[in-house]
Amino acid sequence: MQRLQDALSTFHALCLGMIVSALLIIKLSLIPTYAYYFIWQSTFVFLLIAIVLSIYFNKSKLFVLLLFPLFFSLCLAFPNTLFTKLSVSAFWHITPVITALGYLLIYALQERGLFSSFGALRTSIGLIILGIGYIGLKYFSPALQQALDTPILHVSLQGLAKASDFIVIITIVSLLFVFLISMLFEIQSQKAPFWMLFSQMIPLLFLQESNHFILFCLVASWIAIAALVHDAYRMAYIDTLTGVPSRRALEERFLRLGSNYIIAMVDIDFFKKFNDKFGHDIGDDVLKLVAKELSHVKNGGKAYRYGGEEFTILFSGKKKEDCIMALEEIREHIFRRGFVIRDKNRPEKAPKEIRESTAVKKERLSVSIGVAMSGKGKTPQEIIKLADDALYKAKESGRNCLICL
Ligand code: GH3
Ligand code: MG
Ligand code: MG
Repeated sequence: MQRLQDALSTFHALCLGMIVSALLIIKLSLIPTYAYYFIWQSTFVFLLIAIVLSIYFNKSKLFVLLLFPLFFSLCLAFPNTLFTKLSVSAFWHITPVITALGYLLIYALQERGLFSSFGALRTSIGLIILGIGYIGLKYFSPALQQALDTPILHVSLQGLAKASDFIVIITIVSLLFVFLISMLFEIQSQKAPFWMLFSQMIPLLFLQESNHFILFCLVASWIAIAALVHDAYRMAYIDTLTGVPSRRALEERFLRLGSNYIIAMVDIDFFKKFNDKFGHDIGDDVLKLVAKELSHVKNGGKAYRYGGEEFTILFSGKKKEDCIMALEEIREHIFRRGFVIRDKNRPEKAPKEIRESTAVKKERLSVSIGVAMSGKGKTPQEIIKLADDALYKAKESGRNCLICL
């Protein structure tokens, strides 16, 4: 269910939106032919921007995959310079095969950065595939065309796609492979290749018109840029371990905070024992669990990881009593829930009874909370300090409680 929700998340919607818009623009002939000159220019500019960004962010996968639309756009832009004469038929046969194959092979290799032996290997494989593509375009023969056009499916795809059965099949295989693997990743630069491939394959399979291919390459460059910007944002503002916004995001939020707000500092009680007794990994799991619970706090509170095992919850424009009630509810919930240390060998999919019987032990888990309200002339940093003082008092009072100053 979570995966399905992810699949429908903003980034996917954005990519799909861009592709559908490009299709509508073409179908409704919204771009006059002379304006395509600017689309060609923009495609090269945006592909280069995307390539530079992928180098800057050390993303070898995106870097190599972006070389494909760049290379084939260049072939279309300079047909007589790169080739004696580029045959139209060669382009619409070779480009989809090489793009689908290239994405399949390049995507299968694990991301290990651009400036590493893996990055060099991936780039070399990409360049070899493009080299084969260049030879294919240059020495395209009627025999090769006939081989690629051989009907494979019993159902005729004529009318559905302009490309041959073989090209349609290899496209579907590549798209499916890239899509399924991309589901394993959280970051958008790993999800973007599916949409980049999808975008390039629409004109290659269905439209077979140079201007339209270039327009979809422009869309592919935007998808790559959107993914890289999105990942950079995540890196800066989202805490990698817990997935809640980081302290930097909190500081940014302070800049546009009104005068009426409440800050709660939440600290896990005796957290060190989880690390000492069960190891750092279990400690990390406890942090993730507490972060998840805190992010569900009611009354519009927003949780941030302040640092270590300390979290901040910010309520803006809310009544003090309601905030305290929401915080007390979450504190009690965490305490009631506890933390179950499970047997490492316990199978993930074991039946419920077995799962429960092999659970080693339920460990006590609680948080202490210090709360402070905004005050005239006081900065959010000063309110944090007050909330911290309250937290200190909560610890002194025996922990697993809330103190409001
Ligand atoms: P108290 O009830 O007084 O808060 O005691 P405590 O044990 O929770 O507090 P203490 O400050 O002594 O320990 C905090 C520990 O949190 C120390 C540090 O190693 C651990 N810690 C900080 N960040 C992380 C992290 O990201 N992962 C893990 N596993 N441990 C972390
Ligand atoms: Mg602490
Ligand atoms: Mg603590």
